[in-house]
Amino acid sequence: MEEKKKFKLSLATQIFIALVLGIGAGLLLQNYADIAQGYIKPIGTIFLNLLKFIVVPIVLFSIMSGIISMRDIKKVGSIGAKTVIYYLFTTAFAIVIGLAGGLIFKGFFPTIETSELNYQAAETNPIMDTIVNIFPSNFIAPLSNATMLQVIVMALFIGFAVILVGDKAAPAVKGINSFNDIFMKVMEMILKLSPVGVFCLICPVIAVNGAAVLGSLAMVLLAAYICYFVHMIVVYSIAVKTIGGISPLTFFKNQLPAMIFAFSSSSSVGTLPINMKGCEKMGADKDVTSFVLPLGATINMDGTAIYQGVCAIFIAACYGIELTPAQIITIVLTATLASIGTAGVPGAGMVMLAMVLSSVGLPLDGIALVAGVDRIFDMGRTVVNITGDASCAVIVSNLERKKAARKAAKKNAS
Ligand code: ASP
Repeated sequence: MEEKKKFKLSLATQIFIALVLGIGAGLLLQNYADIAQGYIKPIGTIFLNLLKFIVVPIVLFSIMSGIISMRDIKKVGSIGAKTVIYYLFTTAFAIVIGLAGGLIFKGFFPTIETSELNYQAAETNPIMDTIVNIFPSNFIAPLSNATMLQVIVMALFIGFAVILVGDKAAPAVKGINSFNDIFMKVMEMILKLSPVGVFCLICPVIAVNGAAVLGSLAMVLLAAYICYFVHMIVVYSIAVKTIGGISPLTFFKNQLPAMIFAFSSSSSVGTLPINMKGCEKMGADKDVTSFVLPLGATINMDGTAIYQGVCAIFIAACYGIELTPAQIITIVLTATLASIGTAGVPGAGMVMLAMVLSSVGLPLDGIALVAGVDRIFDMGRTVVNITGDASCAVIVSNLERKKAARKAAKKNAS
């Protein structure tokens, strides 16, 4: 056990060193960005591909095994309801903070020459189609296309069925738990490559964007990062202190390795195992974390919501468009849905920004304004995304423990 602890610490340190070295190498390679793009980035891409490969089995098996371990549909319902309410509530808060930050900073946003912009936005669906698409029409397609919301629905149905079938499903319970352990192991193996992966991902980002960051987009980046901080410090601190029953300091101290990993990998799903370990250290229950965290890594994206709010204001300002209160409310609603639909992989949030912009008639070309530095937005928003998930795990664990204690006290009294 002791030895394992040492290894964990050293992996976090290795990742941090890789991050610093990657930034340094990126700065040195600024004039040779093609070398960084052509030779270093592909190695980072291998690492990302491995993360994408493991996403589906991890989410499928960890949610199923999380549900099964609760053994009781009522308990799943109680944890599920608390989780979803917390996720929706904090995401709405995040968008409001993002919009407020954008409005405060609006005066500082540069007027950018917008005539030559060209960004081909991916097709986005109307809201009702988005909802219909959550439900799978095929057993294999969601797995092979990594359509994560459909994978979650599959996991929920199968998990509930296993509980309802009862004793007859005992072999399946064993199988699901054992596959869960196996895929977690595969994930651990992939994570051992993370220092190399992190170096190779961050270096080309800095080599390509280094100068641009200091340029005209600095203000919108600054606005987003201030909002990220405000959301984490205010919303999560208050939430873990008042409902989670732990001090914000303990929370952030244990959360740090996951935050560093999220910052450098820009992937919520890739950060899952580190996040789970961090939450367990803070005292969250394993059956809660194995349900709440994979769900959060797929549907709870507060950082992405903040980014979408700030960018919507920024793009509107660049085009000289004044947003009406009705448009702002529409942004709050669509950004909540868009952040739910965002996959926990690098760059996904920018694709979903198209949905937010088109809902209020802002020009999609505006995405080109922020696309060049998207990775820098992404690093910060992923940190917020996974920290939100962790705060939920701590809170739901505490609430469930209190509920169990109340029940036990009642039983004793009667
Ligand atoms: N990269 C983010 C994440 O994994 C998603 C996004 O692009 O906003 O959480």
